[in-house]
Amino acid sequence: SSGTDRELRAPICCILGHVDAGKTKLLDCIRHSNVQGGEAGGITQQIGATYLPAENIRERTSLKAEATIKVPGLLVIDTPGHQSFSNMHLRGSSLCDVAVVVVDITQGLEKQTIESIGLLKRRNVKFVVALNKVDRLYGWKTCPNAPIVKALKSQSDDVQREFKWRVAEVVTQLKDCGFNSALYYENKKIKEVVNIVPTSAVSGEGIPDLLLLLVRWVPEIMMEKLTYVDTVECTVLEINEVKEFGTTIDVVLINGALKKGDQIIVCTKQGPVTTSIRHLLTPYPLKELRAKQGSYERHEELKAAQGVKIVARGVQHALAGTSLIVVKPGHDLEQAEAAAMQEIYNAISLSNENERGKNEDETAIKEISRIQTCKEGVYVQASSLGTLEAIIEHLKTLSLNVPVSGCNLGPVHKQDVMKATAMLKRKEEYAAILAFDVKVMPEAFELAVESGVKIFIADTVYKLVDIFTDYIKKLKE
Ligand code: GDP
Ligand code: MG
Repeated sequence: SSGTDRELRAPICCILGHVDAGKTKLLDCIRHSNVQGGEAGGITQQIGATYLPAENIRERTSLKAEATIKVPGLLVIDTPGHQSFSNMHLRGSSLCDVAVVVVDITQGLEKQTIESIGLLKRRNVKFVVALNKVDRLYGWKTCPNAPIVKALKSQSDDVQREFKWRVAEVVTQLKDCGFNSALYYENKKIKEVVNIVPTSAVSGEGIPDLLLLLVRWVPEIMMEKLTYVDTVECTVLEINEVKEFGTTIDVVLINGALKKGDQIIVCTKQGPVTTSIRHLLTPYPLKELRAKQGSYERHEELKAAQGVKIVARGVQHALAGTSLIVVKPGHDLEQAEAAAMQEIYNAISLSNENERGKNEDETAIKEISRIQTCKEGVYVQASSLGTLEAIIEHLKTLSLNVPVSGCNLGPVHKQDVMKATAMLKRKEEYAAILAFDVKVMPEAFELAVESGVKIFIADTVYKLVDIFTDYIKKLKE
């Protein structure tokens, strides 16, 4: 199908790259278009994002009038490298449809750039490379906001030569990261080969190209994903206090629509919180902002894709990067909460995975020593600090209130079982190891069988806690 009769939503775009590559400057450049007067061709400031209507992008480019743009616009996430992006959950949706990786042409790929590309590769997020700061090439003649091919034609042979070898260098570096790439205007395989767009965030060369590429290329490669559907897909960006409303959640509504009064579930470390939307807010357009200072426009309903502020009770601990779930009338609330819960664990363990550096073990040990333990209690072992904390929290909140005597990260070794055997004399029911997502070493297993320490293993935190509480209940019967 040609897809012409589908309703498409705006693609959501994140900007990533090494510090000083020009992420912030590029965003500024995108926001303050050179379109004269009024409100810069309908660009609107949203919650955590900037919305560029397709018409604005068309005005900024030399695109022929008859050429079509299939999406209504582009939603650019405002905070480059926002934690919600690195936190975005494992399953299902991710916050961004596409990423712009900013590379300083005079520096090539740097450490954080390579990390960003690795992250995008693992999450299977498509990206383009903005090869920024072309105006820094020695002898560059400025052509403000010009399409890049035109700007390049006005340059001296020397500049063109330097440009060529610097591009070749970046192509080689991208190859080392596992990606074939080419200048976008020479790229014949736009679905497989990464597009490179030379830009200057200072004088604007190539910016029209970048925007146009995004609104035209993205629907080519992900028509299905950009098709508007009623099912809500929504990611939490952050929690904010707003004077007149109290606690609000800033979200990116990726698909579907939110309505005032909708029952929603947000994820917190303590578990899912079910509440309802009291207000749906967006900032007033720039023009009106002065008249209605500090205030937001209220809506009955808002459709994807856009940045939205939600006012709701009990949301102050919602975790950035997790999904906001809408419970439709007649849906199973318990099931929805369980799904939310599972996502919390994914989000927590994922954020830990991202934060891990060289001193990973040291910090983990410090953190573990901070976890409060009792003299009598079970032993908990998990693959990440986040999941470990989650299990411990969960055990505490149960009606049984299971205390924890010790915990550890990584595979279950003999020493762990040794520690757990201490409970055999003190409180036998707690002579147990709750192991989540970790291996149990053979010697550890042997010792457990010999000594009578029970090892419980499960692949979800919920299950693990469930089988253990069942065990305790049976013992008490
Ligand atoms: P970020 O750390 O990636 O957000 O980088 P910034 O946007 O803060 O830019 C870092 C520095 O590079 C600032 O001094 C910018 O003015 C400068 N800069 C960014 N883009 C360009 C560009 O295209 N050309 C030139 N000449 N300077 C740039
Ligand atoms: Mg910055």
